[in-house]
Order: sequence, then structure tokens, then C-alpha cells
Amino acid sequence: DSVFSHVVRAPEDPILGVTVAYNKDPSPVKLNLGVGAYRTEEGKPLVLNVVRKAEQMLLNDKSRVKEYLPIVGIAEFNKLSAKLIFGADSPAIRENRVTTVQCLSGTGSLRVGAEFLARHYHQKTIYIPQPTWGNHPKVFTLAGLSVQTYRYYDPTTRGMNFQGLLEDLGSAPSGSIVLLHACAHNPTGVDPTLQQWEQIRQLMRSKALLPFFDSAYQGFASGNLDVDAQSIRMFVADGGECFVAQSYAKNMGLYGERVGALSVVCRAADVASKVESQLKLVIRPMFSNPPIHGASIVATILKDSNMFNEWTIELKAMADRIISMRKQLFDALRARGAPGDWSHIIKQIGMFTFTGLNSKQVEFMTREYHIYMTSDGRISMAGLSSKTVPHLADAIHAAVT
Ligand code: PLP
Repeated sequence: DSVFSHVVRAPEDPILGVTVAYNKDPSPVKLNLGVGAYRTEEGKPLVLNVVRKAEQMLLNDKSRVKEYLPIVGIAEFNKLSAKLIFGADSPAIRENRVTTVQCLSGTGSLRVGAEFLARHYHQKTIYIPQPTWGNHPKVFTLAGLSVQTYRYYDPTTRGMNFQGLLEDLGSAPSGSIVLLHACAHNPTGVDPTLQQWEQIRQLMRSKALLPFFDSAYQGFASGNLDVDAQSIRMFVADGGECFVAQSYAKNMGLYGERVGALSVVCRAADVASKVESQLKLVIRPMFSNPPIHGASIVATILKDSNMFNEWTIELKAMADRIISMRKQLFDALRARGAPGDWSHIIKQIGMFTFTGLNSKQVEFMTREYHIYMTSDGRISMAGLSSKTVPHLADAIHAAVT
């Protein structure tokens, strides 16, 4: 008899579980719209050409060794990552008020930031949007923070509940941490306008709420790296403090390389350097130091202006394909006369569309049409192609009529 026989089976991860079910389905028309990873028009995973090129250069460089990195990772990668998100001319960088540490993609960066806050920040409550990426509550709770939600999405308009957001942040205790999706909110695809960001900023600064940005889609939302960083740059421009978790999973297609960074913008250089010293104490017993390969690829691309340009072109092509899928799905639903207003499909931004389909309709589409997605009606636009749009439109039409 095992000493572990009392262990109860855990449920499948709700997002990864979609793929498990999809893999079991023998139907030739099956479609997986659950995955949060880019697919080509042919439905294949994509490795960017510029990434292949960088890997080749790294491979050819015989001076490279496999020694441990420092606890904070590759210094050059950290510098370039800060520059990418805050802008080349950022005063915060120039004044050495930013500390950046290499972490394990977006998730690891969120976790390291949260662990630091749980140890060193006077407020232990973090407000996350309702809804949000399913991993957020778990990451922050396990790091020792207490999680509250703020209203974000309005199902009746399939848009922003801005009034609700202002009310909830307005009544949050002073000093609370607030998790903000920098762009391409997951799962809703609904982002504040620049004017709304400015209102959020004023409210948060007036109440000393601490912004923690999750930037998992820079460049992937609009196709432009600077446009997708505007929300963060507004908060940095006012001289105040904030946390930023960056991921290169989507925008460089480096999902499995686990490459990301945590930046903490402080009011003064000496504070930033003390914060960094404590971040090392968080990282050391967690994973000791980060892996070399992914961050070397990113640094190789970011530091070379030609490769950087190549990257922006490939990034824009991914974003444009997703935007074109939105248009095609919207047109196909209109052509079928599907009842209701589907304009949210073209208004929403980023990898996902929050269709507004309920769990019963999702179940129907899986059963009758072999289309797989999360039960909240979120579909990955990146998993669609011109060839599969008609099948999805047929399924949605049948589900709503
Ligand atoms: N944050 C958001 C909003 C996401 O959608 C994701 C990935 O789906 C992540 C963070 C973390 O991704 P990763 O850890 O792969 O960088």
C-alpha cells in the first residue's frame, strides 16, 4: 500500500485540458481553438526566421560555454528588455531607477514579483480583473498575496465595464496592488482606450495603488511594439513606481524556451539597486538562476538593428493574420445571417475573441462540430485559418439559432 494512496486526482488544467480532449477526437474536421499559441494559415506552429538565424549564430560561436548565469540572468538581455518595454529614451532607465531580472517567461516573472511584494510591500492585497487569465489567482495566492477582483468586462456589451472598474479601484484600500494587462486582455480581448488608461492612471496614483503590469502580448496586439507598450509608458512617465512582467512567448514565438523578465521601476536609483538585491534572494531558492538559450536568442535579435527590424516585420505578419481572421469570421457570420451583433469580434484585440457563447453552446459545438475551446466561449483567433473559418461560422450559427 502506497503512502500516497490518499492523494486525490487533480482536475485537468481547464485550458490545457481542451487540447487533451481535442487529441482524443478522431474526426478529420476537428478544430482546436483552445491553445494560446500562434498557428500559421496551415495550422502549424511557427518558428520565426529571425529566431532560426539567431540560433544559428549562437551555434557557430564556439566561444559560448554552458556555465551558470548570474542569479539575475544575462545583463545585456535585461537592459534590452527594459528598453523594449519602456522605450529607448525612457528617463527611468537613464536615471538607473529600473531594475530588470531575467525570469522564466511571463509566469515566472509574475511569481518572482509577487513573492517580492509579499515579503517587502506593506499591502498584501492584489486586485485582478474579472475575468482574467486563469493562472493569475493561483500565482498570486501561492506567492502569499491575497487576491481580490475588480469589475472589468460587461457581458451585455461584450466590452469594457469602465464605470465598474473605476468604482472598484476607487474603493480599494490605499496602497493595494493592481494587476493590469498591458494590452490584449486575456480572455476578453477588451482593452481600455488611451483616455481610459489616463483616467485609470490618475485614479491609481491619487490613491497610491501600485500597478503590476502583465505584458504577455507586446507587439502581438496591434502589430506595433511601441503602441502596445503605451499603457505602461504612461505610468512610467509620471515618475511613479510600477512592476512589469514581460514574456517573449508570443511575440517571439519562444513559448517553450521560457524567456521573460521582471522590471521594477522605482523612484530612485539606490532603491532600485536594493530591490534588485532582494529579488536575488527570491530567485536563488526558487530556481537558482535562469536558463541561457532563450535569453541569448532574444538578446541577439534585440541588439542588432537589422535583426530587430526583421523581427518587427515577422511580428506584424502574425498580428495581421489574426486581425484578418477576425474580419473573415465576422463576415462569415454576417453572410449566414447569424442572429445578434458580432461586431465585438472585430473590435476585440489580441490572440483571443471572447465570443459571448455560453458553456451549453460551447458543449454543442464540440459535440456536433468537433470544435474545441474553453467553456467560457474564448476562441484563439491564432488557431483559425481561411479554410476553417466557414466550419466555425456554421457551428456558431447553429449554436445560436
Ligand atoms: N499573462 C497572460 C495574460 C497570458 O495570457 C499568458 C499566457 O498565456 C501569460 C501571462 C504567461 O505566459 P508565459 O509564462 O508562457 O510567458
